[in-house]
Amino acid sequence: MRTLIALLSLSLSLFANADEKLKVVTSFSILADITQKIAGEKLELHNLVSPDADAHVYQPSAEDAKAVFAADLIIANGLGFEPWLQRLIASTEAPGTRVDASAGVVPLMLNEEGQRVADPHAWQSLANAEIYVRNISNALSQADPANAAYYAERSKAYIDQIHTLLGETRVRMTQLPEAQRTIITSHDAFSYLGQAYGLSFIAPQGLSTEDEPSAADVAALIRQIRSDEVRAVFVENIREPRLIQQIATEGGAMVGGTLYSDALASSGPASSYLGMFKHNIDTLLAALNP
Ligand SMILES: [Zn+2]
Repeated sequence: MRTLIALLSLSLSLFANADEKLKVVTSFSILADITQKIAGEKLELHNLVSPDADAHVYQPSAEDAKAVFAADLIIANGLGFEPWLQRLIASTEAPGTRVDASAGVVPLMLNEEGQRVADPHAWQSLANAEIYVRNISNALSQADPANAAYYAERSKAYIDQIHTLLGETRVRMTQLPEAQRTIITSHDAFSYLGQAYGLSFIAPQGLSTEDEPSAADVAALIRQIRSDEVRAVFVENIREPRLIQQIATEGGAMVGGTLYSDALASSGPASSYLGMFKHNIDTLLAALNP
């Protein structure tokens, strides 16, 4: 009887192994969506920072630690976006491979408290998103060579969609008047978008959301909104809107809507990466195009 049970459990575990999917952890919702678009049903995905949540100040749970330890592949943004992730990998002694989706992106260097710091928000450029797709696709193919052709084919289809949106966006953004190209958001998350389309983004908070802005910074921003006659300011999905609403009121601007900075929406059109990008462009044009 005991032998029979042992044989049965052995055959069950063999069956489970044959059927086992690649275990992948992504650090935040945008990478989860891009990875899912490439890999479809071929993997078991655990995403760490949820839609509408702030990755800068994330605190991993015990469940996250378990998923990171069990992962074959850990896909991060890199460029200093997830300082907590390397600590989590080190503390769990996770044996999986870590890949940075932003590898090969030319980083924008910004001044942050007197230091030159790489801006991590590279996904706000569609050209960079193509690099993300290639890096993730290569990492999946290396971890799971049996499905490499499947990943390559789906990546190509996804990059075609990126190129279509890139072309449409280039044409649409030429509609934005020169006088309406200063854009106020909560934190410095949109410099890559600004670089791509000739927009200047200004925010009361810097590259990370960790430190609250000073009263002097907020006052200077309000003065700039008045002097530049900025029409609209924008709240971010990962931040509480109160400060931006106050800045809008005191600067005599309107709140132009919600921009998705560091996370997708939980539902609706901005719950995919390409949907999010299009939503942000739609929102900017609707508020700033007279
Ligand atoms: Zn950010």
